[in-house]
Amino acid sequence: MFAEKPVYLDNAATTKADVSALESIVKYGGELYYNPSAGYVKSLEIKKDIEEATDTIAGLLGASREEIIFTSCATESNNEAFECGIRNKKGNVVLSAVEHASVYESAMRLKSRGMDVRFVKPLSDGRISSEALQCVMDENTAFVSIIHCSNETGTVNDIQSLCAVAKERSPRCVFHSDGVQAFCKIPTDVKKLGVDLYSISAHKVGGLKGVGALYVKKGLNMPPFIVGGGQQNGRRSGTENVGGIIGFAKAALAYKDSAAAFDASKLRQYMAARLTDDRVKINGSEYNSGYILSLSFEGLRGEVIAHMAEEKGVLVGLGSACSTHVKSNRVLEAMRVPRRYAEGSIRISFSPHTTTEEVEYATEVIAEAVEKLRKVING
Ligand code: PLP
Repeated sequence: MFAEKPVYLDNAATTKADVSALESIVKYGGELYYNPSAGYVKSLEIKKDIEEATDTIAGLLGASREEIIFTSCATESNNEAFECGIRNKKGNVVLSAVEHASVYESAMRLKSRGMDVRFVKPLSDGRISSEALQCVMDENTAFVSIIHCSNETGTVNDIQSLCAVAKERSPRCVFHSDGVQAFCKIPTDVKKLGVDLYSISAHKVGGLKGVGALYVKKGLNMPPFIVGGGQQNGRRSGTENVGGIIGFAKAALAYKDSAAAFDASKLRQYMAARLTDDRVKINGSEYNSGYILSLSFEGLRGEVIAHMAEEKGVLVGLGSACSTHVKSNRVLEAMRVPRRYAEGSIRISFSPHTTTEEVEYATEVIAEAVEKLRKVING
């Protein structure tokens, strides 16, 4: 049935670009290719279009235009948050043990420069509790970073409460959250969340790869991460990726609309119910975005299951796409998932374009692969 077009269930890694994003690249690379910083009337028009896109992204985050910096990806946004959010500040840095590699490695770089970097252990369901955060922090904590929605398991953290607790423990701390897997899927009103910094990425919501953004709360003293020609009011130099930024805004709006009419949790539950038994663990919490299902099959290898599924036209992930070359899964390990399970993990992730038929087919394919492998192993 799906021989021509694979059933793509790795949307946490990336999504298919929305037509509006593709059209924007053509428009601002072709007909309107001018540099937005030049003085011609056409350039001024392009500048206006960028401002409109900035307003759209800001609106989706409950922020204002001046609070958005476009970057080359969320990896850059996260790097910037750590490098600039902490610059010239004294004190320790606190992050969860279940962060994306771009946050984890940013913290490790600070550690290698001699900073006091502390990790908050998650509950076994992957969530970060207020109590655990409070225990690791002290009045000298300068920077905190807690992921909003896990890219491994879809688990959603209560950022509003965690941020409030962090500010109570250390009122001067800067609070950052990686919102890449949350944006356009669950509520991400940065004012309600109370965060100072929030990272998002275009290609997870139908935009193109190579575009991200960082929300920086008004009044926060952030030196620029990239210096040069002074674009984006001097806050991030480099000629703007015009088509990418405008396409990001259009795609995010379209994604949000489709997401409102889509029940990810229903598909997630359908698969979970049919693929789990006493030798299968669902990783994560009931507090889930609905878009990610992380399953661990005891005694099996995740990459073998994924490979067998691919042979039948079903594409699933093994964990964060950026870290599949790393042998052990740092996040599942932090969640205390036993190794015999962790090694048999696959990540299934949906988009508002995923259909029930695709999920039914993929469920059958994965169940068949697991049955075959178990037969081989058990002889
Ligand atoms: N943070 C999270 C939670 C992610 O899932 C990803 C991508 O997988 C990133 C950051 C990095 O995003 P980008 O590919 O835009 O650098």
